[in-house]
Amino acid sequence: MITNEQLKARADKVFVATYARFPAAMIKGDGCRLWDADGREYLDFLSGIAVCALGHCHPAVTAAICRQAAELVHVSNLYYTEPQTRLAELLVANSFADKVFLANSGAEANEAAIKLARIHAGEGRYQVISLAGSFHGRTLATVAATGQTRFHKGFDPLPEGFVHAPFGDLAAIEELIGDQTCAVLCEPLQGEGGVRPLEAAYLQGIRELCTRHGLTLIFDEVQTGIGRTGTLFAYHQMGIQPDIMTVAKALGNGLPIGAMLTTDAIAAAFTPGTHASTFGGNPVVAAAAVASLEIILAEGFLPGVRRRGMYFQTQLQQLAARFPDLAEGVRGLGMILGLVLTEKGVALGSDIVKKMFERGFLCNFAGNVALRFVPPLIVSEEEIDCFIAALADLLAEY
Ligand SMILES: *Cc1c(COP(=O)(O)O)cnc(C)c1O
Repeated sequence: MITNEQLKARADKVFVATYARFPAAMIKGDGCRLWDADGREYLDFLSGIAVCALGHCHPAVTAAICRQAAELVHVSNLYYTEPQTRLAELLVANSFADKVFLANSGAEANEAAIKLARIHAGEGRYQVISLAGSFHGRTLATVAATGQTRFHKGFDPLPEGFVHAPFGDLAAIEELIGDQTCAVLCEPLQGEGGVRPLEAAYLQGIRELCTRHGLTLIFDEVQTGIGRTGTLFAYHQMGIQPDIMTVAKALGNGLPIGAMLTTDAIAAAFTPGTHASTFGGNPVVAAAAVASLEIILAEGFLPGVRRRGMYFQTQLQQLAARFPDLAEGVRGLGMILGLVLTEKGVALGSDIVKKMFERGFLCNFAGNVALRFVPPLIVSEEEIDCFIAALADLLAEY
């Protein structure tokens, strides 16, 4: 059997060093727990960054993957397959959308959204307005859309046609709108930016601006979608709907899949040959997504997420009140919660995450402002208590 140290040594030799990894080689997952090669157990409040919504190795998802893998793993999108059709039907039946395009990741779903918004708007209207603090992916166009300069450094020239409005400032968006503008792109709650929700009134204002100026409103629900915020999509809580929406992370409960959803009217701008993906909506990945969605859509599942999300939020608020020199407050929706740190806390943020890891608890530090907690949606109150107790013990040591 391999050890953590042995695998780390081998991997560090052969991988491009794009990740600052923790010294653990994960070998098994079950529910909210992970085990590393040295036999250490972890309580996972990161879920592969908001991916494993049903926990690790959910039996129904594993069964769906195995069943489909034994039937048909891949064919070209030049042919029809049932799993991806069922998936698109589920997404359409449970959202504003009429049409779906399947991709392999969040960034790819956003690329599809940007291309569609441009071709729909027509010649000369290509500019996308996004928000400061946003995160939309790592491809060149989605990096350009991302409103954080630290992701831009070293990659100039970035694709043209992306501008950023300061966060929370509706008038600033209106000032940026010109003859070349085709869309506004935003996350209903900024995940990577530090678990920062956009107020409903702000989102409604953005919706009105888009309608008034004939712009496409794109919601990036890659992180907030598929039950994370306590409703299937975050926009379900905002009293408005977008024209295009992207989802990915939790859609396949760990298998790589992304989707772009839109209306019939906008979808009509994409015709055969304008966009494609070799793997997009592959039968195995689509079968996993169908199995996951059926569980999340089952009666009682999302109310349970909301109830336990409130419980978690209350526990975090009490924790924040106990450690006012480190924590400023709590924000988020449903099961995506952030403990916003004070200036002193921010300086310790990475150290807190590292020490929690050493004690067997996984979370991360988002946007250099908040500890981010995105446990599997199935997390129990006992697991929340256990995590909170460990965090309280650690914070008391500072
Ligand atoms: C993670 C994320 C992306 C990028 O998704 P990938 O699958 O890593 O390409 C895009 N937008 C948001 C809001 C995300 O959280």
